[in-house]
Amino acid sequence: MHRLGVNTTPGETDEEMNEEVDRLPMKPLRVVIVGGVAGGMSTATRLRRLDEGASITVIERSGHVSYANCGLPYFVGGVIEDEDDLLLQTPESLFRRFRLDVRVDTEVVDVDAASHEVTIRSTLDGRTQSIGYDKLVLSPGAVPVRPPIPGFDRVRVLRTVEDAERLAADVIGGPRSAVVIGAGFVGLETAENLVHKSIAVTVVEAVDQVLTPLDPELAVLVAAELTSHGVVVETGVAVSEITSGGITLADGRAIAGELVVGSIGVRPDVRLAEMAGLRLAEHGAIAVDEVNRTSDPDIYAVGDAVGKEDWVGGGISLIALANIANRQGRRVADHICGLPTRSTPSLGTAIVKVFDLTAATTGWNEKRLRAAGRRYRTVHSHPLSHAGYYPGAEAMALKLIFDPDDGTILGAQAVGKAGVDKRIDVIATAIAGGITADQLADLELGYAPPFSSAKDPVNMLGYMAENVRTGACDVVEYEELASLVDAGWELADVRTNQEHARRAIPGSVSLPLDQLRDEIDGARGPFIVYCEVGQRGHTATSLLHELGIRARNLDGGYRTWEAADAAHAQDPSRLVNQEL
Ligand SMILES: Cc1cc2nc3c(=O)[nH]c(=O)nc-3n(C[C@H](O)[C@H](O)[C@H](O)COP(=O)(O)OP(=O)(O)OC[C@H]3O[C@@H](n4cnc5c(N)ncnc54)[C@H](O)[C@@H]3O)c2cc1C
Repeated sequence: MHRLGVNTTPGETDEEMNEEVDRLPMKPLRVVIVGGVAGGMSTATRLRRLDEGASITVIERSGHVSYANCGLPYFVGGVIEDEDDLLLQTPESLFRRFRLDVRVDTEVVDVDAASHEVTIRSTLDGRTQSIGYDKLVLSPGAVPVRPPIPGFDRVRVLRTVEDAERLAADVIGGPRSAVVIGAGFVGLETAENLVHKSIAVTVVEAVDQVLTPLDPELAVLVAAELTSHGVVVETGVAVSEITSGGITLADGRAIAGELVVGSIGVRPDVRLAEMAGLRLAEHGAIAVDEVNRTSDPDIYAVGDAVGKEDWVGGGISLIALANIANRQGRRVADHICGLPTRSTPSLGTAIVKVFDLTAATTGWNEKRLRAAGRRYRTVHSHPLSHAGYYPGAEAMALKLIFDPDDGTILGAQAVGKAGVDKRIDVIATAIAGGITADQLADLELGYAPPFSSAKDPVNMLGYMAENVRTGACDVVEYEELASLVDAGWELADVRTNQEHARRAIPGSVSLPLDQLRDEIDGARGPFIVYCEVGQRGHTATSLLHELGIRARNLDGGYRTWEAADAAHAQDPSRLVNQEL
């Protein structure tokens, strides 16, 4: 298949050249891959399946290849008891099955793109060697951000098996307290797993909420879950120093932590790319084209190190997720072997377990859309994971964000105990398939009482989006409430009197839906109507319209209001009116 090293003579016809090529013995393609985990190993194994003759060398700095870095926090917490369960392959098993030349404890320290050579160095004895390549694939991943905070060199990070081993050993030492700096996905997984080891954990996050891919009114639900499991959550405050007994916050408070773990995020590892003189993209990632080729046509790059074309925004985004690294690795192998490839932009679909909750997201959130000046609308719902009459149904908070003009889905978020993964994955698939927000109503999804409702929560989001886009329901967001009330709108709670008595939006009057026809006085209004989750409110709004009374329904009802209000208390700057 691959005939490399064939020089053409000027004036030679294509036919003559092809005959010449056919007479030559095939020279094996030499591929060197840097990084033997998600992207690198996907490239290597796919390449082998496509080309038995290729010489494939994988260079990996750590002592392990093909390990499950996504499982590392669970090893620290003892949920995964046996370290071997994280090690999916070894150099030996990879040689047996794929004839890969895998060199662990070996680092690529130089790339000479002109001579097509890399220099490798053993991390055990320091010996160096040069290896030639026809194609080089960089999958070096990302490096943890290490801010210039005094004492940060004492902070543990969690990136490799060796990091997890160190952290697990620390935990065996029996620390009573720990601080996790950073409330992102890995930070929260780490916090949960330290709690499993009976350690008192404080999570410190510089911004005003945990899990920044979520909008604040969903993030507060995750923060509440952490708190209910004894985790102290400090948001909106930075760490100013790592001390021998823990950390000091920028506001002067000291937080005890015999163990301090840093999970502030990662940045693309571009050291080799810089050595090779490759072009970098926005945000300092390696620039690649639609087949993951860098600015040097014989060097590809995949995974966390590269900039991703963004599905929603169209530009370049930094998205560090295993699925994308694996996908890109396969694409590179296909391209090297001359197969047609597909390029798909990235949505950043992500999911995390936080104790008994699941939080998931796809596409962009409201904060990001607002910052980009993009028009959008949102709908919030609080459906049950399956039919309420079947035991075990759990409520979730679901949010859909879409373009008001053409219905393009721009993002979705969900937090709940069951069924969150399915709904976000369906919406991510819908986005990828070009399905609009309204068309979510038409999806035929599997239904039986233990799994869903005849109108799945995703279908319901479609109905709600359609109502908003067609004007069938005039919806009010939390951010608009205060100014509408100032302008004379009356807040009407259409739940039962008992529900209203239990908890209600301050200043609202009780006008139960089932009594609305009899009790409403045509002279009153206009009304902002709310119920528990938005559904009775929609019926009430429609009824009031029919009766000739102006009314708007509060999106997501009391539950969204309550969460948004809690988020607002943490970050008052959030009260920016939604662009309509
Ligand atoms: C603790 C943790 C939990 C995660 N959980 C999830 C999750 O639940 N879901 C999800 O989608 N993603 C998760 N991720 C992210 C996911 O693991 C990465 O997106 C993915 O592994 C990226 O693949 P990659 O090939 O680009 O880099 P990596 O998988 O990080 O592999 C890069 C490898 O290259 C090696 N390397 C770097 N430089 C050199 C060099 N010069 N020479 C030789 N070797 C080198 C490194 O040692 C490393 O092993 C998690 C990551 C971590 C750390």
